Amino acid sequence: MRVKAQFLLSTFSAAQFPAPSVPEIAFLGRSNVGKSSLLNALVGSAAAKVSSTPGRTRAINFFLVSGERAATRMIFADLPGYGYAKVSKSVAATWPGFIEPYLADRSTLRHCVCLIDASVPAQESDRRLLDSLQSIGREFLVVATKTDRLSGNERTRNLGALKKALEVEEILAVSAKTGSGIKELWARLEDVCSTKTES
Ligand code: GDP
Repeated sequence: MRVKAQFLLSTFSAAQFPAPSVPEIAFLGRSNVGKSSLLNALVGSAAAKVSSTPGRTRAINFFLVSGERAATRMIFADLPGYGYAKVSKSVAATWPGFIEPYLADRSTLRHCVCLIDASVPAQESDRRLLDSLQSIGREFLVVATKTDRLSGNERTRNLGALKKALEVEEILAVSAKTGSGIKELWARLEDVCSTKTES
């Protein structure tokens, strides 16, 4: 797959988001879910360099990405990981304040990729994130990471339990380590970015 990615900017402020242009995909998940590894598997070293830069894990990092189909250009928005605060009652409580407005207001945001760890039971913070995306009318895809850690049977069982607990019909299974599911994820992202959702 020929993918080009260019780091655009890293910011804490809505005033500095890139000017709305091409369709945008947001990547969300609890800290340590494997988001940097997945972004690295999707777009290569541009993402890895950025995520290892101190301070940037609490910001939104934007990348301009060209997919396999020549006409598909999109922006990936790498959002800070959530879920550290143990007593938090809402996703928002563990997030910097600019995340919710980003999700609610970003005009070019086309789809959210919500990452969960395939080996970890559904977490309240993940439920709350999906609820809040649903309540603001954002489309999302749940992606289970690190599936190479599970046998075929375990994977089927865990994904079934996660679907039930998160009340979603589909979970796409990926592994940044083996590359399994990465092609399917790309195809989905290119589909959502090339489909016009509004008139
Ligand atoms: P982030 O905090 O969400 O950006 O997570 P990282 O990408 O830094 O990954 C957290 C940990 O999970 C690291 O130790 C990774 O090596 C590990 N990890 C990430 N993706 C995979 C995967 O696909 N398979 C396996 N086995 N480990 C993974």
